[in-house]
Amino acid sequence: MQFERLVDYFERLENTSSRIEMIKILSELLKEASAGEAKKIVYLCQGKVLPDYEGLEIGIGEKFVEEAIATVSGNRKENVEKEYKKEGDLGLVAEKMLAKRKQKSLFSQKLSVDKVYDNLLKIAKSTGQKSQDVKIRLLSELLNSSTPREAKYIIRFPIGTLRLGIGDPTIMDALAEIYWKEHENDEDIKNRIKKEKYKDEEEFGRRVRSLLREKIEAKYNIHPDLGEIADIIKKYGIEGLEKIKIEHGIPIRPTLAERLSSSEDIIKKIGKCAIEAKYDGFRLQIHKKENNVIIFSRRLEKMTQMFPEIVKAVREEIKVKEVIFEGEALAYNENTKEFYPFQITIQRKRKYDIGKMSEEFPLKLFVFDVMFMEGKNVMGMPFKERRKIVEQITKGGKNIVATESIITESPRDIDKYFNECIERGLEGIVAKDLNAPYIAGARKFAWIKLKRSYRGELSDSVDVVIVGYFKGRGLRAKFGLGALLTAVYDKKEDCFKTIAKIGSGFKEEQIEELEKILSEIKIDKKPARVISRIEPDVWVEPKYVIEVVADEITKSPIHTAGMKKEEGLALRFPRMISFRRDKKPEDCTTVEEIERMYINQKVVNLTETEERIDGDLTV
Ligand code: ATP
Repeated sequence: MQFERLVDYFERLENTSSRIEMIKILSELLKEASAGEAKKIVYLCQGKVLPDYEGLEIGIGEKFVEEAIATVSGNRKENVEKEYKKEGDLGLVAEKMLAKRKQKSLFSQKLSVDKVYDNLLKIAKSTGQKSQDVKIRLLSELLNSSTPREAKYIIRFPIGTLRLGIGDPTIMDALAEIYWKEHENDEDIKNRIKKEKYKDEEEFGRRVRSLLREKIEAKYNIHPDLGEIADIIKKYGIEGLEKIKIEHGIPIRPTLAERLSSSEDIIKKIGKCAIEAKYDGFRLQIHKKENNVIIFSRRLEKMTQMFPEIVKAVREEIKVKEVIFEGEALAYNENTKEFYPFQITIQRKRKYDIGKMSEEFPLKLFVFDVMFMEGKNVMGMPFKERRKIVEQITKGGKNIVATESIITESPRDIDKYFNECIERGLEGIVAKDLNAPYIAGARKFAWIKLKRSYRGELSDSVDVVIVGYFKGRGLRAKFGLGALLTAVYDKKEDCFKTIAKIGSGFKEEQIEELEKILSEIKIDKKPARVISRIEPDVWVEPKYVIEVVADEITKSPIHTAGMKKEEGLALRFPRMISFRRDKKPEDCTTVEEIERMYINQKVVNLTETEERIDGDLTV
């Protein structure tokens, strides 16, 4: 495919504010692409060259990009800088300047998607001393052959401003859209919908598409690389998905915990269960194959270099040949047998002094699950069987141990254990359904968290994504930023729905940081995947997740999260507590969770009132 053709699609994608339309455009694009191209196109649409877990950025510094534009367009660098100040978008500057270019290079040839992808991949991969020169040369080579319209998009890759707003779920929907017709008569699909009735063809189509999408997603959960998945489907059809198996070095999407507000509710929901201490550190997914150890973070980024002591401990203490397991790592004082405060553990996020820190405050890993063991996918086994494997592989370990756990069906035992955990400085407990499989990529009741709650506050903090901001007024006028417009994720519709305007809780340095990072991701219209009734002064690409606490969840006519009959849900008195850089926008709290928190909070409030009345009577 010519790159020019891809640019046609980019323009259409950029101009739509509807997700349905986006899926349609993407499916047309992927249908048109050849098997070999589909993979590259999936990555390029998301502004990357490899799946996220490879952690490879195309990145070239803005100054160098300006230099490339200047050279290729025959302008002075100062002019490029001036134009950039005026336009605020280097892509547009490149388009404008290349349009005025007097003479095209003799060697220019029409750009193909392959060529653009290959150069961007080389740019991303070049490291070392001379790498900036190499990167500029590769970028200039592309600009030399590009039309002004193509240049606008080429520039946006290395500076990270492509922002078509295409999330992974949208790509999966597009793939299902292409293939559902040929699969509506598949045996398993027919079996699933045998007893269901459909109003019309339209509703039937939606159902088949969602079943096909489920099949794709099941593989995505153990192989989160949609480029590869698109490639396999294009080459071998949907049946080809069978080829995808768990692999060493490819992360599995994590299972997530639900919330309930009491031990009684936990027992009611899952009966006799395992209750584990809830450690507050880094969630790590560890892949070991012989001596090769790879560590992934909660958001599935490769972090092996950051945890040398864990790598060493895995090599020394985990005796099996091949395994994938998960646990929470935190700084632990072996002498006092106490956990260090979270502030100490969190310092390990720094990229410098890793060696020193790992010696001063070595992390201890508390293992809570296992997904793959000696060539076998064990995700389908009931938790109680997986726990046996966890105990077996950690037996005799010093720095890698199994999480503490009790098995009970008594709410009183849970409360007792919960209080002990809190006293020891832990966050609470996690209850585990003894019979549940490992449910990759989903928040189900297989795990239920119970955390310490504060009176007058929601029992858990909420992670929201910033979608826009309001400019500072009054005292805040000195800062460009007054309040944030934030949203939660609607998983079913793959979009972000607003839940709060946050104007407090920020420390001064946080405001400065927010201003800086948000000004880099401004966009001039509402992003397609944001559903909002509020118009902030500035829209931003949904990218940054922050953690907030609030007093409660209330109904609101202006926020769109969980909106029914013109009433949505909102956070009351929200305050920012921290950045959640370990979460992608789609990892923030979901609308479904907020709806459940809203219902649970009502139940808790009722029980509190009853307690008060009881108390009054006894006085
Ligand atoms: P989430 O990971 O659920 O999106 P979060 O990062 O805000 O949310 P919490 O809500 O505090 O985390 O709780 C879930 C997390 O608790 C898990 O992702 C895991 O990192 C951590 N955790 C600590 N101890 C355990 C345990 N024993 N079993 C499972 N998870 C545990």
